[in-house]
Amino acid sequence: MSQIHQARGVEQLVLGQDTQDGAGVRLTRLLSQGLQHRLDPFLMLDAFASDRPDEYMAGFPNHPHRGFETVTYMIAGRMRHKDSRGHEGLLQNGGVQWMTAGRGLTHSEMPEQEQGVMEGFQLWLNLPGNNKLCEPWYKDFQSDEIPEVTTHEGVRVRVIAGESNGTAGAVQRPDTEPLFLDLHFPNEDGVVFEQALPTGHNAFVYVYRGELFVGQESEATAVKIKHMAVLTNGGDGLVLRAQHNTKAIVVAGKPLNEPIAQHGPFVMNTQQQLIQAVADFRADLMG
Ligand code: FE
Repeated sequence: MSQIHQARGVEQLVLGQDTQDGAGVRLTRLLSQGLQHRLDPFLMLDAFASDRPDEYMAGFPNHPHRGFETVTYMIAGRMRHKDSRGHEGLLQNGGVQWMTAGRGLTHSEMPEQEQGVMEGFQLWLNLPGNNKLCEPWYKDFQSDEIPEVTTHEGVRVRVIAGESNGTAGAVQRPDTEPLFLDLHFPNEDGVVFEQALPTGHNAFVYVYRGELFVGQESEATAVKIKHMAVLTNGGDGLVLRAQHNTKAIVVAGKPLNEPIAQHGPFVMNTQQQLIQAVADFRADLMG
């Protein structure tokens, strides 16, 4: 018996754009500027997955950020983070780095492997206007520090942010109430996962292994590997049914409903604030 009375459907399926960022890292951009208002408070989602060192070795050398938070989730591989506030950490196999850029910092994210698979995600979460210039904050969570819960149906849920099945995630944010789950379905078909979601929160699902169906059985929509489903709003939650060994991330949050002004790594509310951000960066005030 489903706990969800009115399940969300699929509004749009997105197959990401292959692109490059940093010093030439190949990645798939799933959420870009065209979806920033629809998926407010999320500004960007990149997926990277490669076993070719020439596609990832160049990394992301020193660059600034202001006005939002970056959440990096490593599925496989090792990346060294260093920032101008003196933080340093190694992101690896199942770990998360949560960085609040706030009023600004510069950092680098560089691979620390010369072979093997590098796979993960980077999600950008907006900050409300009254908090965009907050003190920067940073925390690394190694894989064993990410709360996990296994449902009755056998779905392993890694709770990076928010709450699922009574388990609080590693990070909570009052303004945007982000939910960030990594779901690992068991080795059998037709297993269902349910998650309550507040009506007004924007939400999406990205499938990185296997295939799943979104919605109650009679009206479910298939979402294939490497596709992102933008979910309809309304209803009281999410119902997923998956093929064996499917893996997917689920992201949802409370929209800020503020103007979004972006210039590369700076995301503010107005053009004037962007001009100030560029000036502050050039004056070496981010650090
Ligand atoms: Fe960065």
